Amino acid sequence: VARVDVTGALEADDGDRSDPQDADALVLPGFVNAHSHAFQRALRGRVELRSAARPHDDFWAWRTTMYEDARRLEVDDVEALAAWAYADMLKAGFTTVGEFHYLHHDRGGRPFSVPEMSLALARAAAAVGIRLVVLETAYARGGPGRPLTEAQRRFAFSSAEEFLAHAARAREALAPLGAQVGLALHSVRACPRPFIEAVAAAAHAQELVLHVHACEQRRELEECLAEHGIGPIALLEAAGALGPRTTIVHGTHVDAEDIARLAAAGCTVCLTPSTERNLGDGLCPTAELVAAGVPLCVGTDSHARIDLVDELRSLEDHERLRMERRNVLVPPGGRLAHALIPAGTAAGARALGAAIEEDRVVVDMPIEGRAADAADAAIGLDAWLVGGSSRDVRDVVVAGRTVVSKGCLAADEGDIAARARRVLHKLA
Ligand SMILES: [Zn+2]
Repeated sequence: VARVDVTGALEADDGDRSDPQDADALVLPGFVNAHSHAFQRALRGRVELRSAARPHDDFWAWRTTMYEDARRLEVDDVEALAAWAYADMLKAGFTTVGEFHYLHHDRGGRPFSVPEMSLALARAAAAVGIRLVVLETAYARGGPGRPLTEAQRRFAFSSAEEFLAHAARAREALAPLGAQVGLALHSVRACPRPFIEAVAAAAHAQELVLHVHACEQRRELEECLAEHGIGPIALLEAAGALGPRTTIVHGTHVDAEDIARLAAAGCTVCLTPSTERNLGDGLCPTAELVAAGVPLCVGTDSHARIDLVDELRSLEDHERLRMERRNVLVPPGGRLAHALIPAGTAAGARALGAAIEEDRVVVDMPIEGRAADAADAAIGLDAWLVGGSSRDVRDVVVAGRTVVSKGCLAADEGDIAARARRVLHKLA
């Protein structure tokens, strides 16, 4: 077999013939899905239409439908949708998921006595065998000067202290299920500055990762500028929220000064190319981030598509279209794998504070490659990144345990699909 490390480098055939099926396979590190909203999987296929009454469709129109779903979901529904999304992630080669979780309260907006929704996510992850980091997400308001809408009441806490107490309870409740907890700020839109400061200080003091949606939509930048006189990244910096454990999700509309701030603070940027494309967000200046030394990771976000190969190659493909060049993110003297494999593995693991050393993913070697020769294997790996898909994933091992074997999940896929279908019928 040909082994690939987290830098995208290859070792030639190690002579292991214990399993003849593996003789011509690529053995990769575990991949990390650093940004997930599991319940949004339910929107796939239901939002690809243009209403005659409201012909202009964009992120905000999509969000209205997403909120309608969010209002109606019970704890069991969230567990069923998460098991479905997480099962597909595992089969795609993701061994770890970061769940950016803000659907905290019951349907009336009242807090549960225990963190029921976080527990539902952890049960779903444990049932399929994926490693989970729940990013407990702070949410406080509908926007600058805007009260919460009815749907948003399920997301919100009345104070940062109340939110941090919830996150601490979740951390305690999830530990026995093997799930980790990190912190998130939904956005500068949903969190006023004192809230951002308090959550950032807690993340720093407790050495927890901190994720934030930022600069996804131009309207967010305009509103932030109107409220604070500075943009979202400058505000996060001023509020103490940037640092080596901070991950900025999207960063679509960052400018040169923002990029310098992110680089100086040691932040990671998480892109979700298939979702950003589906929602019409725009193109992130990814090449400029890489040139400044900002690590990139990826997530499947709304899960319209769960395919790690597509997510990774889209980092490069979108830059080729934006800049009218080739091999934009590839380091000089390097290959495509050197740009993409670290984003799919080590950078995501670092962004979530997760350990993936005991994970591996076995993929069929494309016909261009040969495991017996490292140079040929490198061609096979890049052929997979350019032209392959997650369907080529054969085996997946999480923390030493095989959870996908010959493309089949160890967990009961029929049961997972039946439960998800019941939720889809309810939402339809
Ligand atoms: Zn998101």
